[in-house]
Amino acid sequence: MSSLLERISCTDGYDPESLSVARARQIVLDLVEPVAGSERLFVRNALGRVLTEDVISTANVPGHDNSAMDGYAVRFADLDATGETALSLAGSAFAGRTFAGSLGPGQCVRIMTGGVIPQGADTVVIQEAARAEGERIVVPPKQRQGQHVRHAGEDLRAGAPAIHAGKLLRPAELGLLASLGVAEVSVKRRLRVAFFSTGDELCSLGTPLKEGEVYDSNRYTLYGMLTRLGCEAIDLGVVRDEPAALEAAFQRAATQADAILTSGGVSVGEADFIRGLMEKLGEVAFWKIAMRPGRPMAFGRIGEGREGAFLFGLPGNPVAVMVTFYQFVREALLKMMGVSPIEALPQFRVPCVTALKKRPGRSEFQRGMLFSDNGEWKVRATGSQGSGILSSMSEANCFIVIEPERGNVEPGDPVNVQFFDGLV
Ligand code: AMP
Ligand code: MG
Repeated sequence: MSSLLERISCTDGYDPESLSVARARQIVLDLVEPVAGSERLFVRNALGRVLTEDVISTANVPGHDNSAMDGYAVRFADLDATGETALSLAGSAFAGRTFAGSLGPGQCVRIMTGGVIPQGADTVVIQEAARAEGERIVVPPKQRQGQHVRHAGEDLRAGAPAIHAGKLLRPAELGLLASLGVAEVSVKRRLRVAFFSTGDELCSLGTPLKEGEVYDSNRYTLYGMLTRLGCEAIDLGVVRDEPAALEAAFQRAATQADAILTSGGVSVGEADFIRGLMEKLGEVAFWKIAMRPGRPMAFGRIGEGREGAFLFGLPGNPVAVMVTFYQFVREALLKMMGVSPIEALPQFRVPCVTALKKRPGRSEFQRGMLFSDNGEWKVRATGSQGSGILSSMSEANCFIVIEPERGNVEPGDPVNVQFFDGLV
């Protein structure tokens, strides 16, 4: 691992004193690796886990051609193109109850949605279009050959991969697996992420605040973000700004976890003190990222091999913790979890109805609320945008991403937004 920092410093555009968001994200993503280790789980327990092998469809889904509508299965060749056709009713085909035998000339079969198309039939006439006259069913002209028929294998074809390795299993995939009759899948083991807060001013919940203290909120946002991502979140509490306590915490975290997240202690002044410690325990680069909020950040490794872990030293400010998590840590952890391909947060451009102050030179991540204005999606900034003001995050459903070169945003100007609500 002694090459980690060398590998970082060899990358293009590497300036630890002013690193672009895109560059930092790429470095982090390039250096982390998927963890080894998998387990077999029942389909329901695999929700939020990552598939380690392709799931091949052993059969066509659906297994047979079937009807998409309630109506009558007919032979298209029997139908009169210009006038009505009277057909004799030969039986019925309901979902789960097939019509035995095959359809002869001039015959039709009553069919319900999901019913197997009888042999000989190729087209479904919807019930609203047909008319019953005694034992005969009268079909109007202008039907289309093959209409309202769902074909065998149109969802999944036998022999083809139904879901690829690297897929994070969501509700749709659980259903897809079930539709194939698959009861158990092989998934990556859960990623273990240890986290702790640093700071002498921090007070844990359940203890009354003393003068000058603040409650430790970062451990709660981190817990929430990690859990939603599908990681095992290992809470190591609050660690005092003391070398011995920090060293013990880092060592404990590195042996227990694949990745370590810390908050606080990376800003100028504090960083000097932690830097020496990290150099002793591993290899860590301290970055000033050209962004707001979240300028200081550390990234590297503590310990080696199985006893080691990747370290993300996040800033202390509560909003900065969330911004840096979503911009750098989320994708890195997804890669470590075995997800492939990795998708960035969805980003799109909408008009911004609020004026935003912004100095050119760095990326800004303001907190915004995407809303529908009579059907047109727009964004407004939420509350005060200070990096310690967590309520701006609580009211938000997206980041307003303002590119480095851009200055102030006037009401009505288009901006990019990254939607983060409901993230797994
Ligand atoms: P630091 O990066 O350690 O200098 O912290 C920057 C600011 O964030 C300070 O105002 C801290 O009090 C605050 N802060 C740091 N850690 C936490 C935490 N875990 N919970 C809430 N606020 C914090
Ligand atoms: Mg601190």
